[in-house]
Amino acid sequence: MSPRNQNNNQINLVTVLLPVPLNGGLLTYKIIDQIDDCVRGAFVEVPFARRKLVGILWDITDVTPDVSPDKIKQVLSILDRPPMTDELMRFIDWVATYTLSPLGAVFKMCISVPGLFEDTQKQKAYFYTGTQSKGTRLTSARQKVLDLMQDQKLQTIAEIKEKTGVSDSVIKGLEAIGILGSQYVDTKPDSAVPVLGDVEPELSEEQTVAASALVYAVASSVFKPFLLDGVTGAGKTEVYFEAIAEALKTEGTQVLVLVPEIALTSQWLGRFKTRFGVDPVVWHSDIAQGKRKRAWQAIASGDARVVVGARSALFLPYHNLSFIVVDEEHDQSFKQEEGVMYHARDMAIVRAKFSNCPIVLASATPSLETRVNADNGRFETLKLRERFGTAVLPEVKAVDMRIDPPAPGKWISPDLVKEIKDRIRNNEQVMLFLNRRGYAPLTLCRTCGHRFGCDECSSWLVEHRFRRELHCHHCGHIEPMPDKCPECGNADTLAPCGPGVERLFEEVAGEFPDARITVMTSDTMTSPKATAHMVEQIEKGMLDIVIGTQILTKGYHFPNLTLVGVIDADLGLRGGDLRAAERTYQQLMQVAGRAGRAEKPGTVYLQTYEPEHPVVDALVKTDGDSLMAMEQEMRERFQMPPFGRLVALILMGPELKPVAEMGRRLAQTAPREHVLNILGPAPAPLTRIRGQYRYRMLLHAGKSTKVQKMVFDWIERTEKIKGVRIKVDVDPYNFL
Ligand code: ADP
Ligand code: ZN
Repeated sequence: MSPRNQNNNQINLVTVLLPVPLNGGLLTYKIIDQIDDCVRGAFVEVPFARRKLVGILWDITDVTPDVSPDKIKQVLSILDRPPMTDELMRFIDWVATYTLSPLGAVFKMCISVPGLFEDTQKQKAYFYTGTQSKGTRLTSARQKVLDLMQDQKLQTIAEIKEKTGVSDSVIKGLEAIGILGSQYVDTKPDSAVPVLGDVEPELSEEQTVAASALVYAVASSVFKPFLLDGVTGAGKTEVYFEAIAEALKTEGTQVLVLVPEIALTSQWLGRFKTRFGVDPVVWHSDIAQGKRKRAWQAIASGDARVVVGARSALFLPYHNLSFIVVDEEHDQSFKQEEGVMYHARDMAIVRAKFSNCPIVLASATPSLETRVNADNGRFETLKLRERFGTAVLPEVKAVDMRIDPPAPGKWISPDLVKEIKDRIRNNEQVMLFLNRRGYAPLTLCRTCGHRFGCDECSSWLVEHRFRRELHCHHCGHIEPMPDKCPECGNADTLAPCGPGVERLFEEVAGEFPDARITVMTSDTMTSPKATAHMVEQIEKGMLDIVIGTQILTKGYHFPNLTLVGVIDADLGLRGGDLRAAERTYQQLMQVAGRAGRAEKPGTVYLQTYEPEHPVVDALVKTDGDSLMAMEQEMRERFQMPPFGRLVALILMGPELKPVAEMGRRLAQTAPREHVLNILGPAPAPLTRIRGQYRYRMLLHAGKSTKVQKMVFDWIERTEKIKGVRIKVDVDPYNFL
């Protein structure tokens, strides 16, 4: 008998999805009387472990659980909010199944906003009273606020501060003298309607062809994946902006743009605003709580039309998605390495399918996975072969470090030094790339040989000389830099080994004492504001030399930058994994792509000890296609992804022995049929992180193998050990 048919005091059983690990997040509750309001996806409040939690009504169930009915707790209330869309529920289910994660963990990503379900509080907002007595002299800060408020209606303190940069006291001061008045208002979702047809750029022929294909797909509202494969500086952004404009023509539609690291997109936001007249809704982990909540609500209600965000923006409650962009689709930051281990690019395609809308993956260096999908016709390829306008691709030269080595203790070859000099003399800008934060990757004592390592991780501590500290780049541990060796007590014997960006800075500053130099890394770009400030300084020509890590590779456009120097082109190729060549090529091609993006042509110097390496060769010849074709052939021959499947198991625990024992057990119960190979168990290259010992196993199977079920059953049938966690990484990108 179905619960709906039970009458009298209608008791119905429902499963509720909660953001908890217990039972994968699905728990049974009973619901009395309110059954009519009870639709799948409704947000409900339930008791859970002496707390109240909000979950969603996943299903109305016929199945009676093992517990007796009077032990089952009751749903407390059904919240007065639009239910979660069926589409998002299907997506949660799909992602959980694919990544072998609990439903509850995926659901948690969908509601990752503190205080999301608490009532919205009233906020104080200010308005201009128009009573400014003659002769009142205003400070420049006060004048700024006044200029803003004269043509704006109500503004909250946060909004005024954001737009003018003044402090609280300036605003309160203006209120005290009666120029501003205040009242309490409901906090409104951030949503402004983009304006269309304001500034339509003139597209090149190539751009027009690509844009029309996207526009047509958006207008037809069908699921269709595209690869927008265009060289650096081709104007890919302008192309997909056309499709965004098309999507926005229809009332109520929403667009999602996924970008690798949102903190780095001040330039992108500026271009969006120029084109559409408003800011998009921005989503990433650094957004303040109130703003986050308003953004979530605006997305759920459909008020937010364009959302630009990091990978987590994929799990927002869009009302009516009509177009998705994955910009710089090759970027590895789309892969989440903690919690639910998913690849946002792959999941975005699934989401587009469920939303029945087109999706475009844009890159100058598409991933091999995407290339294969394009080759076999699953994705339609749109190509941009030339840079926009008069700009041409930079010339790339390999500097053979065996022939032209730097002076001892230096890292820049004489050739590159000379070239930097010339560029600075011409008032052009230079970028030096070295993907190593800090001063030196290793510090040792010359007297006793002591090396500084992290107590919690199997890794060396990295000297950060600007701050006189030692940092662990794996767990974040920081300690002050000692002035003598803690082992032998000798002073002045600590020696840095190898270069980091700070050491490079020292060398550059010594070599070019008059140059204006900056270092851009995650250590110096601590907030979106700090980043935007540095970017602006470069744009305005206030800096001559920019030294930085991979953070520099992300899509920046600096018209006056004409020379890029790669200090160690071989770095990414050493001790490489499956994708080392591909990744190094992508990264170096992206850095190289920062040179010569406007009228002045650019040059790239690659310092290498292996100029004949295929990756270096491909860069010098600007021929990524041949390199990738070679990579593709290798992967196909060895049935490596995307021609085969990999699933990594990571075993972790506070003690080594049980972790190793868990590895042995898993080896014994490992599946044998339909498996190409099982590698490990073996200690992970990073054997210890944050005090946790780690072992790895890797399952390799054929392309059509249903690896999820295989791995699920495998873990199920293996006897567990208390204190040892097993993490599953389907389609791993990280093998450390
Ligand atoms: P990509 O992302 O392909 O590397 P961008 O989209 O950053 O290239 O474009 C490079 C530069 O060319 C940007 O400054 C952009 O504004 C400009 N640009 C591209 N297409 C056009 C166009 N059709 N009209 C005017 N400027 C354009
Ligand atoms: Zn550490």
